[in-house]
Amino acid sequence: MKAVRLHGIGTLRVEQPDEPVTPDGWVRIRVVSAGICGSDLHNFQQGRWFAWLPVTPGHEFFGVIEDNPNPGSGLAPGQRVVADSRVWCGECPACQREAYNLCEHLGFVGEVFDGGFAQYVVLPLKNVLPVPDDVPDDIAVLSEPLGVALRVVNQLGVTEGAHVRVAGGGTIGGLAALLLHRLKHCQVHLQEPNAERYQLLSSLVPFEPAQPYAFAVEATGKEAVLSTLIENIASGGRIAMVGIFHQTAQLDVNALVEREITLVGCSVFQDEQRQALDLMASLASELRAIMAPPVPLEAVPDTYAQLVAGNSAWLKAVIMP
Ligand SMILES: [Zn+2]
Ligand SMILES: [Zn+2]
Repeated sequence: MKAVRLHGIGTLRVEQPDEPVTPDGWVRIRVVSAGICGSDLHNFQQGRWFAWLPVTPGHEFFGVIEDNPNPGSGLAPGQRVVADSRVWCGECPACQREAYNLCEHLGFVGEVFDGGFAQYVVLPLKNVLPVPDDVPDDIAVLSEPLGVALRVVNQLGVTEGAHVRVAGGGTIGGLAALLLHRLKHCQVHLQEPNAERYQLLSSLVPFEPAQPYAFAVEATGKEAVLSTLIENIASGGRIAMVGIFHQTAQLDVNALVEREITLVGCSVFQDEQRQALDLMASLASELRAIMAPPVPLEAVPDTYAQLVAGNSAWLKAVIMP
């Protein structure tokens, strides 16, 4: 079969590895589509989450069960499924209380074992989520990032109809803006320097001019952006943090203390991917609009290069193996 293999920092190749065998407790999936995530690019450039190499990346994918050697698991061949990207230990204190996103040994599909940038992939049963019948094939691949964006909305604890500043219109910032508008009826002001991206998102969400705000989303991972959010947010305000920072940030901590500003972290999701699957049919046209035309596996190294250069107007690059 064909697969994209990551061999080290900056080295990605399309290869023909053997098809995976299906261990007990795992299922074999034919991949229909897979999404390239910012964290895939981050790992490709910096090797931050290398667990072993070479590895097939890809934690956002949609496919069809081909083989399930586990009787009674309720997943028949032909069932449409997506991957839950989190790989948790099941034993640490966080796992004991089912906060798997906070597992002490958390890893990801496509890092600790081969992921979905391939024609076939095997997954543990606990990482397989069935796709509801009303979700069209072409958008199902977005369930993972939509789950992350829903986690951001939940962690923000926003008041219905509130003014919200969203910094960063990438996949997660853009989807969070969409969810804040659609689910919480918020008045969203988006900060996104890429004009094409801003335009694309503003065709889906009626963005407001800048207003005073008590809620914000930090989806850039940039110190200067976070500092400005802290400086301008109302006292008592709350900032949901989802951008990955490349270095340690210097912050005006006294502003947080004196003005009782809350920074709240948002890591992957807890039950939000499942909730996102139930929402997707109602967001189909918006979700479709943010996806780039799909590319084959052969084009993935070039697509990575374009995404690293940062010149995509779309919010999600999609692979169809
Ligand atoms: Zn992702
Ligand atoms: Zn754990």
